Amino acid sequence: MDIKTLIRKEVFEQQGYRTDITSCTIKMDAMENPFTLSPFLKDKLSEEFIKVPLNRYPEPGALTIRKRFAEHYGVGEDTIMIGNGSDELIQILCTALADSASVVLVPVPTFAMYRIIALNTGRTVIEVPLDAAFDLDLDAMCHCLTTKTPALVFISSPNNPTGNCFSEKKIETIIEKSMGIVVIDEAYSSFSGKTLLPLLKKYENLAILKTLSKVGLAAMRIGFLIGAPPLVRELDKVRLPYNINALSQVAAGFYIDHIDMFVNQTKEVIERREELLKALSKIKGIHPYSSEANFIFFSCDFDTDHVYRSLIHEGILIKNLNSPGILKNCMRVTVGNREENEQFLKALKKVIQK
Ligand code: PMP
Repeated sequence: MDIKTLIRKEVFEQQGYRTDITSCTIKMDAMENPFTLSPFLKDKLSEEFIKVPLNRYPEPGALTIRKRFAEHYGVGEDTIMIGNGSDELIQILCTALADSASVVLVPVPTFAMYRIIALNTGRTVIEVPLDAAFDLDLDAMCHCLTTKTPALVFISSPNNPTGNCFSEKKIETIIEKSMGIVVIDEAYSSFSGKTLLPLLKKYENLAILKTLSKVGLAAMRIGFLIGAPPLVRELDKVRLPYNINALSQVAAGFYIDHIDMFVNQTKEVIERREELLKALSKIKGIHPYSSEANFIFFSCDFDTDHVYRSLIHEGILIKNLNSPGILKNCMRVTVGNREENEQFLKALKKVIQK
């Protein structure tokens, strides 16, 4: 068997999404919530888990949860679908596109999975660099919309890895000018307090992504897509029947039941983010950017490959973004709890002084 002739060229030639599996005491690489559940809430959740009949399939389409989240987001039930993380929803969007030559447009740098999934599903990816302030380059984006007519545009706002929200006016112009679907990925919107959900009333080609991964339930893999019913109806046909397992459905309900606690944790992350930003900006040779997410993007006057490895040696894992061009010697650190942030700052100062 010649594997090379059986597998699509774009798949064969790519590296896939690489998650860092280095085990470190302090994990600040993946935008997880640093806070866990109290022992009391852990017990409460376990009691609910125990009741799940594991010999039965989960509720198809997670209907009960869908209804509860429709109410939570203030949208109609027929406008929302649930994915195994928003990753799955990105895959469903790319899979459903009509034309095998469909173009997917992404402003870069951004979340790597848009490109990877688009390539895996046989699409052509066009990347348009952000401007110097990490905002959308509207002229370049509009030029691409007219010349390449992408079927899908992915816009992460706040953007991963830069941490900023894009100008809403620019986003709206892109939605208006696009002949295809525009996806606004609001994975980090709990930390910016901003949402473009109201625009759904105005645009049928808009889809908004949400996730519970950044606000405390990363292990449960729960993401949402909200869009116009005719779009959601078609996308739902691509979804696998039991994509949300029964335990995750329980956890999603638990999130709504205890929303105040989760919101308080988010507020605390925002406070810690501001402290961390202030502390980072005081370190010579470290240039952090303000953030509307639960992580901070920074550039260094040092070789970040070395900083990254040395931090691991100190037991701390962050994301090394270093690559030629705009991300040269750039890193991204997820906001931790007070102690984790202090340990990280201490270790960073130590490794850059060496
Ligand atoms: N969108 C963005 C912008 C992200 O950064 C991430 C995770 N890194 C995701 C989506 C994926 O989230 P989920 O865990 O819901 O699949």
